[in-house]
Amino acid sequence: MEQILPDNWAFMLFALIFSITCAQMLVVYVLADSSKPPAGLGLYTVFFMASLLGWIALTLQQYADLQMAVNVPAVMIILNSYILFMAAGQRAGLSRGRTALGGVCLVACLCVFFLPPGRMFIVQGIAVALFFAGTGLVCAWRGWHFRNIGDAIIASASAMMVLALPVAIYFSMVEASRARGEMVALGVHCASYALVVIGFLASVVIEYQQHLSNLATLDPLTRLLNRRGLEDTLKITMAQAARRSLPTSAIMVDIDHFKQVNDSFGPEVGDHVLRQVADVINRLCRSSDVVARTGGEEFLLILPETELDSARVLAERIRQTIGQRPLLVDFQRIAVTVSLGVASIVGPINLDELSQEADRAMYLAKRGGRNRVASVEHRPIHLTTAAR
Ligand code: GH3
Ligand code: MG
Ligand code: MG
Repeated sequence: MEQILPDNWAFMLFALIFSITCAQMLVVYVLADSSKPPAGLGLYTVFFMASLLGWIALTLQQYADLQMAVNVPAVMIILNSYILFMAAGQRAGLSRGRTALGGVCLVACLCVFFLPPGRMFIVQGIAVALFFAGTGLVCAWRGWHFRNIGDAIIASASAMMVLALPVAIYFSMVEASRARGEMVALGVHCASYALVVIGFLASVVIEYQQHLSNLATLDPLTRLLNRRGLEDTLKITMAQAARRSLPTSAIMVDIDHFKQVNDSFGPEVGDHVLRQVADVINRLCRSSDVVARTGGEEFLLILPETELDSARVLAERIRQTIGQRPLLVDFQRIAVTVSLGVASIVGPINLDELSQEADRAMYLAKRGGRNRVASVEHRPIHLTTAAR
């Protein structure tokens, strides 16, 4: 086969970069819901487009052997690395360090007018390593915080740049190995650019998939689990309770006369009340308890490894905390009380049966005059707590 390298390598590299960038942008735009595009899409798009321009400049310089008055690829690499740092910050919702690194970017770009190519390569390497270090930190934080491997891939691309650029600078400082230094820098730029492309795409896809999964299992108003999320979350608890014959309790919470709250203050205030009640319940529960919104103004709590008496104590605490002082919504004081039903079971859990028992107890509390806790322990049913 005829030897095609090294003459055509710059052109081939550009074709590769161009095709993966176009394919990636196409996928991102199809995935991006126009009403809620992925965070950072704007600056990442600028980064990818500006990078393409940089690669075009490099291809023309290398392949077409075009003489440029200033070292355009060097300026583009510095600018693009800074844009990537800003894009990572925009996606993570962090803006620290923008001004300081912006100053570094400006100074490094201006150096192209004063420094000879060898020195400029060193300045460019240091500035780019600095911007990638910032990008790496931001993406590592986002990847860990949102459990998103896409951001971790961008962080690893940044780490690769930070480790490899000093090696490239070291080579470039020795006359005999200057070309090798530039090859190391180019190689690591290509690899990290491909990883950023893949990482951003993976990050958007994973975020989208997490969003869909949240829609299926979370209540959008209170951010509590819905019925399906509750069933998914309880799978392990149910298996453990059955194997080790553990007690499990359930508390059904229903806001009293909630229709009147809606009628008197409007449904938006009603929504605020629902959120505040959900927050109180969440705050009073242990982290092992599972809280779900199972109806309009109904919440179901499942308490693993909890006997009926302990569940009644928690139910009473919830009733008192909510009822003791009016909720403050939009500067309006709204008195809210809740009725609670408690049920308990030992060993294998039938979630439908357990929640129905808690529901029956809750209706007993309603019938008993509301703002109270009632409990059932299998049968017979007994009313346990009087209203304040
Ligand atoms: P009770 O003491 O017997 O429980 O009376 P109630 O008024 O709380 O119960 P009812 O079932 O008669 O009314 C429930 C109300 O909850 C009716 C409905 O408009 C309201 N509701 C249900 N879901 C939502 C919601 O997401 N937001 C708001 N603001 N209101 C809701
Ligand atoms: Mg109800
Ligand atoms: Mg109600």
